Amino acid sequence: MKYVTAVCRKCGEDLKLEVPKGASVEQFKEMLEKRTSFECPGRHVELSGPLNFWNVDWSAVYEGEAPRGPKEFARELIKAHGKENVFYLGDKKRIPRLGLKPLQSVPDLNHLGFGEFGNDTHDYIRYDAPDGSIRFYVRVVKICAGARS
Ligand SMILES: [Zn+2]
Repeated sequence: MKYVTAVCRKCGEDLKLEVPKGASVEQFKEMLEKRTSFECPGRHVELSGPLNFWNVDWSAVYEGEAPRGPKEFARELIKAHGKENVFYLGDKKRIPRLGLKPLQSVPDLNHLGFGEFGNDTHDYIRYDAPDGSIRFYVRVVKICAGARS
């Protein structure tokens, strides 16, 4: 089994799309382009082609198990750290609709290097989604606030 991954712009669902047996990825793309209606796994039916709704990552084809999608990954972060402590950085269209806030909404944020951020009271620890599409950040209380200045 070969898979490509996608995120639905309408419902935010992570999708693992199975490339039909015997078809190339190019042929699969053509099949999707020709479809005039579809049912999204996120439970909505559209009278329009799926590629008008799905952002498909055609650059990576997975054999066997596809990696966890950003939504599943974000849910695990929320479960472990609490929703108020999880932020995202990246293309808003690809962000799972889980009510997360963008990292840019945090006041007085400084770049600490290596993609990590912090302000006077908290550090923001970087967590990349397994498919690399979105960076999430988890807010943690700074261990020794003020020590950097
Ligand atoms: Zn959808």
